[in-house]
Amino acid sequence: MNVTQQQIIRRGLTNCCPNCGGRTLFQRKKPLALNRECPRCGLKLEREEGFFLGAMALNYGVTCFGYLLPLVLLWYYHVLDDRMAIVGALVGAVVVPLLLYRSSRSWQLMLYYFFFPQQLPANRRGLSGTEDENV
Ligand SMILES: [Zn+2]
Repeated sequence: MNVTQQQIIRRGLTNCCPNCGGRTLFQRKKPLALNRECPRCGLKLEREEGFFLGAMALNYGVTCFGYLLPLVLLWYYHVLDDRMAIVGALVGAVVVPLLLYRSSRSWQLMLYYFFFPQQLPANRRGLSGTEDENV
């Protein structure tokens, strides 16, 4: 296998293409727009509808458990007063998902190819005469 699962994780955590490692997931002029395919290696990045629901779930989970839950605990233990907690929750509920948007899409690709590394073009081997792609 040319691209290992460790490389896939490293590339996913740094918003790089899982196939070639290029910083090519997002368009340069539109930082929140995913490229349809990697301009360096041609890996198809735009997937069928619903593929990136996992990215939304990751983003939501990290926002809830990584930001809002600690904020609620700080409020509960009177580290933050009511106003600070409400403002922090309102601002964080908008800002944190925006900050995580690019990473969550990259994490989704990373998770997909972590479990199916053979589907990366760099890891595909030639098929013998009796095999098809479903084998
Ligand atoms: Zn690539």
